Amino acid sequence: MKAFFRRKSLLVAASAALALSLSACGGSSTTSNPPVAEKPSFAADTTMAKLSSAGKIVIGTKFDQPLFGQKGLDGKPVGFDVEIGKLIAAKLGIPADKIEWVETVSANREQFIKQGKVDMIVATYTINDKRKTEVDFAGPYYEAGQALMVNKDNTTITKPEDVKGKNVCSVTGSTPAATIVEKYGAVLVPAATYSACLEPLRNKQVEAITTDNVILAGFVSKEPDAFKLASDQTFTKEPYGIGLKKDDTAFRMWINDQLEASDKDGSYKKAWETTAGTVIKTTPALPTIDRY
Ligand code: GLU
Repeated sequence: MKAFFRRKSLLVAASAALALSLSACGGSSTTSNPPVAEKPSFAADTTMAKLSSAGKIVIGTKFDQPLFGQKGLDGKPVGFDVEIGKLIAAKLGIPADKIEWVETVSANREQFIKQGKVDMIVATYTINDKRKTEVDFAGPYYEAGQALMVNKDNTTITKPEDVKGKNVCSVTGSTPAATIVEKYGAVLVPAATYSACLEPLRNKQVEAITTDNVILAGFVSKEPDAFKLASDQTFTKEPYGIGLKKDDTAFRMWINDQLEASDKDGSYKKAWETTAGTVIKTTPALPTIDRY
């Protein structure tokens, strides 16, 4: 499905300019169909061997974030995070229809990994030292940055300093919720998911929503007449990692290898272009992998 008309907007990430072409129907997402490895072999007792021989994997992602992870009409999520998950599963020899997708929200990701409810999480999940005390991260596979979204008619908020003392919606357990309070003095109106912030913004119960630029760009692309980004600037760095059980170093390093391989063979680019790239026209370069 192609948009009938396009609008141009600019979103500047911390490092690079992302040209956004916001489409009226929100950038349809499809799948990149990564080729499934045939009988890959792995060292015994590794997570790779276990998952590959089981022939299935449970992956946590977002279900309400257009472009990165959004549940479709068929009940399956679509988006760039979903494609990254499919890429890793395919390298384990697991086809997309053998992936069980579980909704993970910002506040439950560490718990879901620790409790073994998921084998990995690909969910706009910022790598940081605090989270690294609880879980491991492969990647980063993308770098976003925090931004603000406001109603289309708002003229008073253009930068994070403008939200001091104002009601701002963000999600419990997320890095942007902490930053907007601790660094910029906003009054946080917490929600469980970003989509739950949309009505409070529309109704002017809050003056802005804050989270990563690409998440907000997804919402703007769905409703360009209602919402806009407050500015094309971002004010944090949010490197997205794949969350895993702590100290599963072999799995983490293997996933890092697969991310690098997907960059070389074009499947990373294809994953972007079939999803977020339908709206955000600049294909990112795979960031340097952090092999800590
Ligand atoms: N990337 C940020 C985080 O991990 C915001 C997006 C999210 O909540 O998933 O907290």
